[in-house]
Amino acid sequence: MKIFQKGFNYSQDGQGNRLVYHLQGCNMRCPWCANPEGMPVDGVIMSDAEWLLESVCPHQAVTGTSVDRNVCKGCKGRVCITEHKTKGLYLSYEEMSAEEVHKEVQANALLFYDGGGVTFTGGEATVQFDELREVLKALESCKIHRAIETNGTHPRLSDLFPYIDQLIMDCKSCDPQEHERWTGVSNERILANIRRAARQHPNLHVRVPLIGGVNDSGKDREELLAFFREIRGENVTFEVLAYHGYGIKKWGQCGWDYKMTEKAYVDEEILKGFRRAIKEIGARYRGT
Ligand code: SF4
Repeated sequence: MKIFQKGFNYSQDGQGNRLVYHLQGCNMRCPWCANPEGMPVDGVIMSDAEWLLESVCPHQAVTGTSVDRNVCKGCKGRVCITEHKTKGLYLSYEEMSAEEVHKEVQANALLFYDGGGVTFTGGEATVQFDELREVLKALESCKIHRAIETNGTHPRLSDLFPYIDQLIMDCKSCDPQEHERWTGVSNERILANIRRAARQHPNLHVRVPLIGGVNDSGKDREELLAFFREIRGENVTFEVLAYHGYGIKKWGQCGWDYKMTEKAYVDEEILKGFRRAIKEIGARYRGT
C-alpha cells in the first residue's frame, strides 16, 4: 500500500483513539484539499526549503530555496530521491504491504482506548481498493475497530461494508454541475452510495466541508438539508466542518499554486445556522 501519512488522532476520524493511515491517490481535485500531496496516484516530490541542497539535482532545478518544477517535469531519473535521501526533497509516500499494515495495527492495539481503532483515509482510501479490502478483512479476526473515510465515488464501495465498523462519507454538494466544476467528478455515484450506505450500513457518518463561495449559499444548504432529511436515521450521523487553510503550505511544497482565497472562510453565523438546521430536521448531529 502507498501511504503518505500515518499517526494517531483522537476522535477526528472515527471514535476513540485511532491510528490513521492516509492512502496515496485521489480521483478528485478539490482546490481546498488539506492534503494535496495525497492526490497523485504515483505520489509527488515534496520540497522543504530549509533543507534543500543544490547538489542533489544534476539538472540545476534546485537553486537556493526553490525548485524549478518545469525542469522536474521532463526528469526521468529523479536522482534527487532515488540516489539521495534528504529532508529537502522526498517522495510523498512510503510503501507498506497489507501484511505490514496489519501487523503494525495489531502491535498498537493497546493504544486504541475509548473504543478506538484504525482508520483508512486519503487521498481517497478506495483508490487502493484491493489492498484496502485485504487489510480490512485481515483485521476482522483481531476484533479491532475499523473505519474508513471516503469521498464515496467507488462503484464497489458497498463490497467493503461488511468489513467496516464505521463508515465516514463526504458530501460536498447536491448540485451535479457545481460538484463536477469544483472537484472534477460528478456527484451522481456519491449520492447513490450515501443513500445505499444509509440503508445498509449500521454506522454511517456524513460530513460536509462547508466552503465559502463553493457550497455555502442558501440554495446549496437547502439542497443538502433535503438530502439529509431523506437519508436520516438512527444509524446515520452528520457533521459540518468549516473550511480552513491548513494545507496551504503543503501546496507550495508540492510545487503547486493554492487557488482558494479568503472568501473560502465561512461566515460563523451561516455555519452555526446550518448545524442547527440539521438538528432541527430530526437528524443526529455529531461533532462541533
Ligand atoms: S526531479 Fe529531477 S530535475 Fe527535479 S530536482 Fe529531482 S533530479 Fe532534479
